[in-house]
Formats: sequence, structure tokens, C-alpha cells
Amino acid sequence: MPKEKDFYKTLGVDKSSTKEEIKKAYKKLAKQYHPDLNKAADAAEKFKEINEAASVLADDEKRSRYDQFGTAEAPQFGGQGGFDFSSFMHEAGDFGFDFDSIFESFFGGGNPFGGSRRRRSHRRGADLRYDMEITLEEAAEGATETISIPHMTRCTECKGTGARSEDDIAECPECEGAGYIRRTARTPFGLFTTQGPCGKCNGQGAYIKAKCASCHGSGKVSKTSTLEIKIPAGAETGTNLRIREAGEAGERGSEPGDLYIVVHVKKHKVFERHGNDIYLEVPVTFVQAALGDTVEVPTLSGKADLKIPEGTQSGTILRMREKGIINMHSQEYGDQLVKVVVETPTKLSKKQKEILKEFEETLNKKSLFDRLF
Ligand SMILES: [Zn+2]
Ligand SMILES: [Zn+2]
Repeated sequence: MPKEKDFYKTLGVDKSSTKEEIKKAYKKLAKQYHPDLNKAADAAEKFKEINEAASVLADDEKRSRYDQFGTAEAPQFGGQGGFDFSSFMHEAGDFGFDFDSIFESFFGGGNPFGGSRRRRSHRRGADLRYDMEITLEEAAEGATETISIPHMTRCTECKGTGARSEDDIAECPECEGAGYIRRTARTPFGLFTTQGPCGKCNGQGAYIKAKCASCHGSGKVSKTSTLEIKIPAGAETGTNLRIREAGEAGERGSEPGDLYIVVHVKKHKVFERHGNDIYLEVPVTFVQAALGDTVEVPTLSGKADLKIPEGTQSGTILRMREKGIINMHSQEYGDQLVKVVVETPTKLSKKQKEILKEFEETLNKKSLFDRLF
């Protein structure tokens, strides 16, 4: 995965910051770098970066996607409108600059600069959840898994309309095909207009005279879809991947739900994971521990040399920098921490015992004893 911009760093906030804190940081920086107020050469570029970061971090959906993938773009199944900065600059130039309303627009509540939100109706299809088990190696490297999802998809026979043919779709007489009814009331404050879905056609604007034979008018059929799921390197148990529009089809061609992949990382027989660090125990002989040695140890990316310093005690933890797992967000690697376990020799031959006894004679036992008591 390519290294993406760090939006948290751009706004000077951290990953756990609340929306309110992000908003505060954004306002402060936007004022500082607004090109009308700041004539420095790089102010416009900086201002653009700040707005880009805020447009992602202020939007829950985009932020969670960014946290998981390091990008705010949907991983598959496009259709997500982006934030168009050029139109925003134009508006800001024409009508002045209201930091509050611009920031509010990032929250998705009626974006005045193009509207990246799609309209959601109550007939939107259901979201689905798929629990996926992966190995620690797959979590470290990232993986592509092919899965089969049984779900309701849009009927291809009628393109989701539910009608036998286009001629079998008739305009609703109540709302004249609009799908909503507008009512205007005169009040002391002036004309007051409300708008609600048409009850006759449930907001569809049309009714079906003859139903599609394949889906019996529902506009959806059951199907098993095969999907390729990209697991980002650094994924951990609980990592949630959202696959847009891969859930259940919506009613009569309306928007489908999403599919959520919940990652579970299997326990490894050798490595133990703590966040992005990897723990491992390595046995060494007492001679290696006493004299020092270089040993080969397994890591998630293959074998690597580890230097055991002279005089290493059993239980010492040695750090192998950046041999752990990548952090999905910061793209920094964790470490591998190796606990050295000194093995006491057993089943010694007569000669070995003699050598050890001879060795023991040379030790200054009194000083050892003094150190202990
Ligand atoms: Zn109607
Ligand atoms: Zn159909």
C-alpha cells in the first residue's frame, strides 16, 4: 500500500481526537493559512492540505476508512463522490469565507459545494457482516482473499424495477410521478412548505401493472457473489473493512446495503503479537550466553541474525528494530522482542562433567555468595 498523507499530522491532532477537537484545530489552521490572509508562497498549498485533511477527518465514514486503509477512498465498488476543492475555492472567493459553515459541510449535512452524499431511502438494502479468519503472516504482509457471499442482488431481468417491461410501469396519479407530495400552508410568518413521500406509491413515483417473472416484482434475486477482498498489511483482530454496496439489494432498485468484513487473526504457534510488536522466545546454550554468539531467529519476514552479547542472562529481552508488524495508520513498523532463554545442559558425559568441575574450581565462589546475601 502506498504511503498516504497523514491527515492527523496535517491538522496537528491525534488519532483519538474528537470531532470538536478536529474542528478547533481546523479553524485555527484555516485562518492562519487562508491565502487571502497569508501571503507566504506555500500558504495556498498548505491551506489546500488542511481542507483536504478536515474533509476526511470530519466525516465519520471517511475517517474510519482512512484509519483502516490509510486512504479515504472506498477500497472497491466506487461511487463515492469526492470533495471538490476547486469549486470550494470559487464559492469562497465569491461569497466570502465562513469557516464554520465550511467545516459543517464536511460533516455531510448538506454540502453546499457539490454534495458528496448520496440520498438514502428507507428501502436501502440491509448491511451484511462476514467474519474472516487470517493468519498472522497474512496480517503482517496484507492479503487478498476470495470469498463467496450469498445475498440478494438486483434482478438483471427487470434491472431492479420489478416490472415485466418498461410499459408495465405506470406513473403514480397521486404525486404525478414525483414520489413526494408538497403541501403549502400560510402562516403568520409567511408561506410554509413541507414535503413528504407519497403514500400511494411509497415514494416510488410509479406502480407496477405486471410483475417481473424472475423476481416476482421485488426487483431482487438471490445470488452467491464471489468477491476479492484486500486485507491491508497491519490488520488486526477487530479490523473492519467496508465493501460498499456488496450487501443486500435495496427494494425495487434502490441503493444496496454494504458488506462489512470483520478480521480475526489466528493465534500463531511461535509468535505472539502485542499491538505492532512481536514477542518470541529463543533458547541458547549457557556457553552461547556466556561467550556471546550470533544466532538465526525466525521473523515474520524470514530468518534474521540476532547478536547475543557476551554475558547475557536468561530472561534478557533483545530488541530487533522494525521486525514487527506495520501500523496501518502510521505505516511505521513495530519491533520484534526476543526473550533469551538459557538452557541448562542435561545428560552430560563423564568428560563434560570433569570439564565443568574444573571450570567451577576457577570461579570465585565467595564473591558469588556475597552478592546473594
Ligand atoms: Zn405517488
Ligand atoms: Zn425482476
